Amino acid sequence: MITLALSKGRIFEETLPLLKVAGIEVGEDPEKTRKLILPTNRADVQVVLVRATDVPTYVQYGGADLGVAGKDVLLEHGGEGLYQPLDLNIAKCRMSVAVRDDYDYAAQVKQGTRIRVATKYTTVARQHFADKGVHVDLIKLYGSMELAPLTGLADAIVDLVSTGKTLVANHLVEVEHIMEISSRLVVNQAALKLKRDKLRPLIDAIASAIQP
Ligand code: ATP
Ligand code: MG
Repeated sequence: MITLALSKGRIFEETLPLLKVAGIEVGEDPEKTRKLILPTNRADVQVVLVRATDVPTYVQYGGADLGVAGKDVLLEHGGEGLYQPLDLNIAKCRMSVAVRDDYDYAAQVKQGTRIRVATKYTTVARQHFADKGVHVDLIKLYGSMELAPLTGLADAIVDLVSTGKTLVANHLVEVEHIMEISSRLVVNQAALKLKRDKLRPLIDAIASAIQP
């Protein structure tokens, strides 16, 4: 059996067409079922639904042979035990620093003020501000980062942005662009050796389906 870990939502939706090219069709819609293990048209391939942040952990420890995870999630996880053969070019967005539209970020940085930054991405954020020599206190959050500058919890956030509509709706502006984000295929290193006959053709077929 080959087990593929996916998260519900955009990663699931955007991975489906790639799987289809590889001859794999998922039998059920994760939004309509309560099942966490979904069969496919191939008796030897199943999909497990896990939280986006748990995909690397499942694959690392062999709970799944392979999976799809955002670069954001992979950088926080560290990538240990994972082979990352393909950038799938899906679930694209950028990681940015954003502040309230009335907060003068540049002036605060120039003055050397300690800035309070709320984020789910503490590893990437710590590295980013260290590289720029900006002094920050990081506050770890698990969601709804946009709320932090509005409530006074933080001066800035590090979050993912795609259209920017959520920022605008919450009176926030992007002040720094940290990196481009997309999702990657991750494979358990031991599984790649043990199940090579099945995994290698699957990886190659998915590679052939990637859109530029
Ligand atoms: P959960 O909702 O379970 O807490 P999550 O919010 O990380 O997890 P998603 O919102 O489905 O899950 O995001 C999954 C992945 O999709 C992220 O890790 C990121 O790589 C990418 N992503 C997140 N937000 C966007 C966005 N606005 N546009 C495009 N891709 C995004
Ligand atoms: Mg989400």
